[in-house]
Amino acid sequence: MARQAITDVKDEKTFVKLDKVNLKPGETARLFLIEGADWIVEYSHELRKKPRLTQAEKAAGAQDTPEDYYGSYLCLGKQEILEAGELDAGNCPFCESIAASKGRIGRPRRGYAANVIRFMTTHGTHDPLTPIQVSRLAWVHKDGKKYAEIKGIANTWGDLTKRDLLITNTNQFQAYTIQPSPNTLTESPEVMALVQQTYDQQKYSDEDLTSGLGNAVDAEGARRHADAVVSYANNVIAETSQQVAPVVTQQPVMQAMQNMPQVPVAQAGPIDMSVMSAPPVAQEAPVMAAVAQTPAPAVASVDVDNMPSLAGLDS
Ligand SMILES: [Zn+2]
Repeated sequence: MARQAITDVKDEKTFVKLDKVNLKPGETARLFLIEGADWIVEYSHELRKKPRLTQAEKAAGAQDTPEDYYGSYLCLGKQEILEAGELDAGNCPFCESIAASKGRIGRPRRGYAANVIRFMTTHGTHDPLTPIQVSRLAWVHKDGKKYAEIKGIANTWGDLTKRDLLITNTNQFQAYTIQPSPNTLTESPEVMALVQQTYDQQKYSDEDLTSGLGNAVDAEGARRHADAVVSYANNVIAETSQQVAPVVTQQPVMQAMQNMPQVPVAQAGPIDMSVMSAPPVAQEAPVMAAVAQTPAPAVASVDVDNMPSLAGLDS
């Protein structure tokens, strides 16, 4: 960097570190959704230096490491296109580069964020401490199952601020049981006053909540990050071609790709037909074959952001 007047340097964007809803296995929580059904909803891409391991690779003892992770970035695509389950390659460099990244750029994934109030409870229960103690947390997740449960509670019971949510974490992947309580502790005016005061003084801004779902970059920044990740994909091909020199016809590759199960295809994006006829494809055949034999992983219910190996990396 060249010298310049420090007063002319553009301010760096800094985000507060969010205190998130993040429960240990077996831990319970009693939450009040003070913002009701009004959540931040954003699509983001997960970028990795190496593709996520297949179930077969994990079964063989390999582990995803934090070093393989690059970051989460907000998708620049139009909402109506993303809601239709499509990629918006015209507006989002991440969407455009999914195929070229060979599994390193994830499809846009919907995430949710809101301020919530947590009532402190006696250990392992949903019973509040006396006197009532509260804290403000950001509930940030990309878990369609949690979304469906909260939506279901709202559809069944109406206003989400009329009940507390009683939550128990059932495993190490932040899989929760979520039950509405018959009432809310905020029916007490004293408790509501404490809750409101805590919220007014400590609530996260929309910008801070959004930062919990992914880094916000403009098209130029997105292009730069997408290219960086694609370069990892290209380097891997170069390394592989030095180590492995089998003569593989394209026919097995075609078969392997046709036999690929649904889920890995959905994660990796649409198959790029141009890749299949490109010269380096021969070296990819063993990889593709391995993928084809892999059973579909249960990705949908895993909260990537709260996986132990990735905890805190994108917040
Ligand atoms: Zn995108």
